[in-house]
Amino acid sequence: MTKSGNTAINHLPILPPAWLGILGGGQLGRMFIHEAQSLGYKVCVLDPDPLSPGGAVAEKHLCADYGDEKALNDMANLCAAVSTEFENVPANTLDYFQNKGIFFSLLGRCVSIAQDRVLEKQFLRDCSVHSGIGPAPYHVIQSASDLVTAPTHLFPAILKTARMGYDGKGQINVLDANELKSAWQSLGQSVCVLEKRMPLAFEVSALIVRAHDGKLTAYPVAENIHRNGILHTTTVPSPSLAKYPDLSQKIIAASYEIAEKMAYVGVLCVEYFVLQDGSVVVNEVAPRPHNSGHYTMDACVTSQFEQQVRAMARLPLGDVTLMEPVAMLNILGDVWFENGQTREPRWDQVLAHSSAKLHLYGKASPKLGRKMGHINCLGKSIDEARAACVAVAHDLGISP
Ligand code: ADP
Ligand code: MG
Repeated sequence: MTKSGNTAINHLPILPPAWLGILGGGQLGRMFIHEAQSLGYKVCVLDPDPLSPGGAVAEKHLCADYGDEKALNDMANLCAAVSTEFENVPANTLDYFQNKGIFFSLLGRCVSIAQDRVLEKQFLRDCSVHSGIGPAPYHVIQSASDLVTAPTHLFPAILKTARMGYDGKGQINVLDANELKSAWQSLGQSVCVLEKRMPLAFEVSALIVRAHDGKLTAYPVAENIHRNGILHTTTVPSPSLAKYPDLSQKIIAASYEIAEKMAYVGVLCVEYFVLQDGSVVVNEVAPRPHNSGHYTMDACVTSQFEQQVRAMARLPLGDVTLMEPVAMLNILGDVWFENGQTREPRWDQVLAHSSAKLHLYGKASPKLGRKMGHINCLGKSIDEARAACVAVAHDLGISP
């Protein structure tokens, strides 16, 4: 068996009951672990939180920081391949697995692109030469002098930190050039991207999988509704896309191009905006299973987490067929709160909707805005799935 850095020459599959490793024991790590275990693998998770949802279900929980040499060494000795639930993997951790010749699901290039909006926008712009789908117009702000050169046609705009932003965090609306300086200061004068606020008709995401041998497959494009920058619902098939023939294919082709250009192996989610004039812009890339792909767990033949296992274990990819229309509802910690007190929501009422599939992540304490679980509502039609989703949301006190 020859291994050469992360570009493993070995094409043999990693078969159960081998150990697989995962960095991060949040909900994405936990759902990956469940799927890996159900295929017969053993899983070692690295997460500094002793109460992490993934740590509670993995065969082995290394409770240490992501850069901890001893923990990384233990993981490397145990596991044939390692994946991650988040893109902000420290560079030394990545180097560690690469130097040991352990297959790590993220190549250095994917990580640097997904960690940094400046590189990401540039990369997406490069990809648009072929795909015809580029990012929204933007301007990079690295120093105070870049504030003055911001083109006026970008306003009204959104100022986004280049690094560590998620769920709408690290973003400020900027109405005009006068507001830019104070917005940049309140983001700590860090490197930012000033992005034109686009007239969105609706938002979609493409979820694709690329195998070690370059084979590609794509789930149906999903339609997403965000609230306060956090995903609220995902509906598949996308009801709005039905009015735009060929757009789905164009979006999937653009996503394939991105995965190929990154030489990516695994599950990749690409977010897009469909604008009011019917044109499309690409928003961002997540090199991992994504919240907008949770519907695959109950509605598709193969879930996105099983695909992550298959891709990293060099197995053939699974069938992505959608078996039934589905509407996914995210459950935030907010639903635990009533009159300033916390109490357990009435899951019995949720489960009284027979097509509602409840997934709770086992997080220790509910907090406002914290993702605690999701519910996949299936239906014979999109309308039926959406109606079930609205009813479940109502029972939980979530406005639909
Ligand atoms: P995050 O990394 O937090 O997901 P995004 O860049 O995806 O950040 O922004 C979160 C949400 O904010 C998007 O899903 C979209 O609803 C809205 N948004 C972001 N950028 C734009 C834009 N340029 N124009 C209009 N809406 C935007
Ligand atoms: Mg986003």
